[in-house]
Amino acid sequence: MTVFTLNTGAKIPAIGLGTWKSEPGQVGEAVKAAIEAGYRHIDGAYAYENEKEIGETLSKLFSSKTIKRSDLFYTSKLWNTFHDPKDVEKGLNETLNNLGLEYLDLYLMHWPVAFKPGTSEVVDVDYVETWKAMEKLVQTGKVKAIGVSNFDIPHLERLLSSTSIIPAVNQVELHPYLPQPSLLAFTKKHNILLTAYSPLGSGGSPSLLSDSTITEIAKKHAKDPGQVLVGWAVQRGTAVIPKSVNPKRIKSNLDIAVLDNEDLKRIESVTTRKRFVDPKSFWGVDVFDGFGEETK
Ligand code: NDP
Repeated sequence: MTVFTLNTGAKIPAIGLGTWKSEPGQVGEAVKAAIEAGYRHIDGAYAYENEKEIGETLSKLFSSKTIKRSDLFYTSKLWNTFHDPKDVEKGLNETLNNLGLEYLDLYLMHWPVAFKPGTSEVVDVDYVETWKAMEKLVQTGKVKAIGVSNFDIPHLERLLSSTSIIPAVNQVELHPYLPQPSLLAFTKKHNILLTAYSPLGSGGSPSLLSDSTITEIAKKHAKDPGQVLVGWAVQRGTAVIPKSVNPKRIKSNLDIAVLDNEDLKRIESVTTRKRFVDPKSFWGVDVFDGFGEETK
């Protein structure tokens, strides 16, 4: 399995298991199936409301010696309701309590958007101040690295010019319909690892998995479209976190296609600037303005 090195020096397995919309009752089994299939990187978040069940599963996997804590890379995310600097450590503690873990390998600011505690009402807390509070978490030992999610270039530029820790990771929507080449170039230049979320086009939107270019390339390599999409992400130098609760798909998403230059060129041509995750539709906030060309 490909492993990337973060700007902290820590190693992160390129492919992790996504857990958004992995329902309670399913998510524990999914995490178990993933670890048994060889995953050593799990992507979670407070907002996914399934951390308790993941924690129970991890605890069993640790006690049965299926996996050691130190062999697992676990990511979680600070939810928007904890952005006030005085609430940041509380947000982390809730996640650690839910998971039953002493530390996270990576803690991301989920969105550059703050909510009034307990609501989804947008409030004016500057994400730079939230980041400064996250920087302090590193000294507690409860997070090994910190990063961001859903940040575009102007957001990152502000952090780089006014704070002291460079984010280890920026996790964003990334797939052949939204390849974000300028953000990828920017993050590579600044030694920030980009992680691709919704790499298969997310749930309920099968258009990417059934795209004729993707399915033809899959056929050529005797792989399925998921294996082409995950392989494409890894070959671009991004971490990637496909979600599945199906043991067969969890396993197959690790067995990625190795693409040649012709495949990569063909995939470049399928770009439609199609976004599957758009908070504007649920919060009325357009945090993606700065993505410019990529949103057209
Ligand atoms: P994905 O692009 O990973 O797609 C998941 C969907 O594809 C599910 O319906 C899954 O169904 C299905 N699927 C999985 N594998 C295959 C396969 N090989 N062939 C066909 N279908 C397949 O969507 P997500 O939006 O969930 O993104 C992945 C992860 O990224 C999330 O789970 C989360 O961890 C993270 N994320 C982060 C966000 C952020 O704001 N930081 C936002 C969105 C996602 P099934 O389970 O039945 O296999």
